[in-house]
Amino acid sequence: MSKKYDLFVIGGGSGGVAHARRAAEYGASVALAEHGPLGGTCVNVGCVPKKVMWYTASHAHHFAHAADYGFNIEVHGHDWGGLKQRRDAYVHRLNGIYAKLLDNSGVDYLPGSARFVDAHTVAVGDTEFHAERIVIATGGRPAVPRIPGAELGITSDGFFQLAERPQRVLVAGSGYIAVELAGVFNGLGSETRLLVRKDGVIRDFDAMLGSELLKAMRNDGISVETRCIPKSLQKSAAGLELQAEDGRRFGPVDCVLWAIGREPNTDGLALANAGVATSAAGTVPVDDYQQTNVEHIFALGDVTGRAALTPVAIAAGRRLADRLYGGKAGRHLDYQLIPTVVFSHPPIGTVGMSEADARAAHGDAIKVYNSGFTSMYFALGNLKQRSSMKLITLGDEERIIGCHIIGEGADEMLQGFAVAIRMGATKSDFDDTVAIHPTSAEELVTMR
Ligand code: FAD
Ligand code: NDP
Repeated sequence: MSKKYDLFVIGGGSGGVAHARRAAEYGASVALAEHGPLGGTCVNVGCVPKKVMWYTASHAHHFAHAADYGFNIEVHGHDWGGLKQRRDAYVHRLNGIYAKLLDNSGVDYLPGSARFVDAHTVAVGDTEFHAERIVIATGGRPAVPRIPGAELGITSDGFFQLAERPQRVLVAGSGYIAVELAGVFNGLGSETRLLVRKDGVIRDFDAMLGSELLKAMRNDGISVETRCIPKSLQKSAAGLELQAEDGRRFGPVDCVLWAIGREPNTDGLALANAGVATSAAGTVPVDDYQQTNVEHIFALGDVTGRAALTPVAIAAGRRLADRLYGGKAGRHLDYQLIPTVVFSHPPIGTVGMSEADARAAHGDAIKVYNSGFTSMYFALGNLKQRSSMKLITLGDEERIIGCHIIGEGADEMLQGFAVAIRMGATKSDFDDTVAIHPTSAEELVTMR
């Protein structure tokens, strides 16, 4: 006879672990299946090792500015291999912490691949489990273009396996991962070329952010090719060479990294056995309460194709547990006003509507405030990296509906402002807040 649980969670990443633990803490009997290392994308091949690499490249930038502050330093190279060992050890520690957290919360952790047998039965290997409710939190994986030779390139997963820094790199893509990893390679000394399919980068955000980032990346030495659609990748003794659809050739290089989006992990789940519907892209559509088309089967996180961010997966998972097992009727995640940071060099923080979207939705009822300046950090040197900020307000009361920041410190600046904006802050609330001087953030409360 199969073992019975109140809840079976498929996927031990950010969302699955958060949901399973919260449900178990409310008293549900919970099993969680994970076929890879615990912690999922974020811990193993995402936010965590990426932020380590971002800090590493930021160090390189600080060393370059050190002479402006009177230091006479010489940097004798960078030990990528040694850094990787320490980074991997850190990730490994986190894997252990995740296992302990599941155990402490009373979740049964089942290492292995899970698939549906029917709408209430999940199999892991040869063992079947019956569950009253099932949650799909299987995340996604990097997309690779369907072109000849694509397998010669790597993805963000492969980036974290690199044992040494490649000297010549092509990064294809224009979203978060492309600009973040191009910034890391460039910061650490690789000749870095970014190939974007259209005219800019991070085009889903306010246009100011993409155009300022493009300028900053070029100033920093990254060569950016626009309107470049990869057609094939070849390998010769000299290295990898990429051919674009318009005939341009790039290379030879030592590494080509595809950063063109991600695909949901739904292939191996046998969703049809449970009658769970998927979209054309393979994601699992859900309603506002994370419910799939099957009443007792839910999905959350990247696999749903909405706002693929760790805190979103965690928040959706915890709220779902609050509602199903914690007696908090109606509790669910509001997907509006999600703040996000792009860990580019310089970093970007953004929340709310872009100017174009706000204009399309509200026409002349919006007002836009802009500010551009050089952060004091750059005051003493020749490099003058620009910071730019934009506030978008709505109506006579000037409620803030968009806040977009690029520049030194943007990554740590946004969270507090996001709270205020979520609470309905108006421009006059910002103006009435006394500035903190000297900071870059003070610009946001002194805009005219
Ligand atoms: P995942 O964390 O992907 O977890 C899904 C888990 O399910 C995986 O462990 C997988 O092995 C497992 N699984 C899949 N199928 C099965 C199966 N059949 N049986 C058992 N287990 C299965 N987000 C941020 O907020 N900030 C960042 O700075 C950031 N940086 C990122 C950098 C990179 C390079 C990448 C790739 C992503 C980054 N993200 C970042 C996004 C973030 O990692 C994801 O949004 C988050 O991990 C999604 O969590 P999840 O629980 O939905 O899925
Ligand atoms: P993104 O969705 O951010 O960007 C991918 C971009 O690549 C597309 O927007 C598109 O831009 C371009 N593209 C798509 N297909 C092709 C193609 N065939 N050839 C060339 N370019 C193509 O995906 P990422 O992979 O960068 O990241 C996945 C998700 O992970 C992000 O959306 C984000 O949610 C999350 N993430 C979050 C991070 C953070 O919080 N800091 C960091 C990293 C990832 P265009 O239309 O302009 O060509």
